Amino acid sequence: MIDTAEQVVIGEAVPIENIAVAAYKIPTDSPESDGTIEWDSTTMVTVHVAAGGRRGFGFSYAPAAAGRLINELLIEHLKNRNALNIEECWQAMVAAVRNAGQPGVAFCAISAVDTALWDLKGKILQIPLVGLIGAVREEVELYGSGGFTSYSKSQLQAQLAGWAEQGFHHVKMKVGRQPQADCQRVRDARAAIGDQLELFVDANGAYSRKQAVGLARRFAEESGVVWFEEPRPSDDLEGLRLLRDHGPSFMDIAAGEYGYTPGYFRRMLEAGAVDCLQADATRCGGYSGFLKVAALCDAFDIPLSAHCAPQLHAQVACCAAPLRHIEYFHDHARIAEMLFDGSLESNGGHLRPDAHRPGHGLSLKIVDAQRYAVSL
Ligand SMILES: [Mg+2]
Repeated sequence: MIDTAEQVVIGEAVPIENIAVAAYKIPTDSPESDGTIEWDSTTMVTVHVAAGGRRGFGFSYAPAAAGRLINELLIEHLKNRNALNIEECWQAMVAAVRNAGQPGVAFCAISAVDTALWDLKGKILQIPLVGLIGAVREEVELYGSGGFTSYSKSQLQAQLAGWAEQGFHHVKMKVGRQPQADCQRVRDARAAIGDQLELFVDANGAYSRKQAVGLARRFAEESGVVWFEEPRPSDDLEGLRLLRDHGPSFMDIAAGEYGYTPGYFRRMLEAGAVDCLQADATRCGGYSGFLKVAALCDAFDIPLSAHCAPQLHAQVACCAAPLRHIEYFHDHARIAEMLFDGSLESNGGHLRPDAHRPGHGLSLKIVDAQRYAVSL
């Protein structure tokens, strides 16, 4: 579709004209696993929303079912609404999925549409997202994330050392697949990156409570680990709190990537379960949901870290005061290189949004993506 911009008249609505949905399944560059699952591909659901002669792009890393849900439940509630009233659209979408259940696929679907609406509004008003929302920083820090449990020692060390060479200050690896071998893998990782970088581990909920307490101490003492993500499944708020209370004082307990609705994040913060909350704009209701989580973090005085999809998070991360960093996840960084125009270059482990591109600045290379298309 061609951008044929229409003049926006102050005070007049810009009705949503069309919403196009697609899904793509992109193979990983090698088999991957973490503490609890294995995978060999990533599915991305994309949305293009058209209004006022402009078109906004949004997406979620979610099953193709999220795309079907947009077609079946959301589009009829969005057509002809004012594209500039994003919160009104957001509330309409949340209401529309009441009977289907909000957390999970439905909120991934809402997230994809919401990020497209923010991009669209930026394009209609010809302003970058950092200007539309209002930035509190010009660039945001990344941490390298991969270190899959499927990797050999040499793969693990090469990946983490590569990020160290690029200037990243923190890197994260997966643990939890073979708990008896984890301390050695973490020592191998530390040996590859030297003493200066911060080393993070992510168990994806693989450990028992007592196992996690014991390993927290060993990871800290032997390898200086300062971030322990999901030592317990994120629904075990008591278990996460136990780790905060009994783990090393300099080690942050982090979780939240499986959070969808605002109430979930509020309950996690009320339980005192994390030192740093994680949230993912491709799951938690798009930029609108992410900003609600940021407000909760502000109120609870807890820092926020953006989970994955680094290119999609860069602009909103510059606008969220409690934000600490963005997860530069290997699979998603690779997909952005393959399939997005407008991706930001990591500079010394930082992303700096382009203030001269309206919206979030990303667009999908539709021709290149076509070979990965799956039916909805
Ligand atoms: Mg994680």
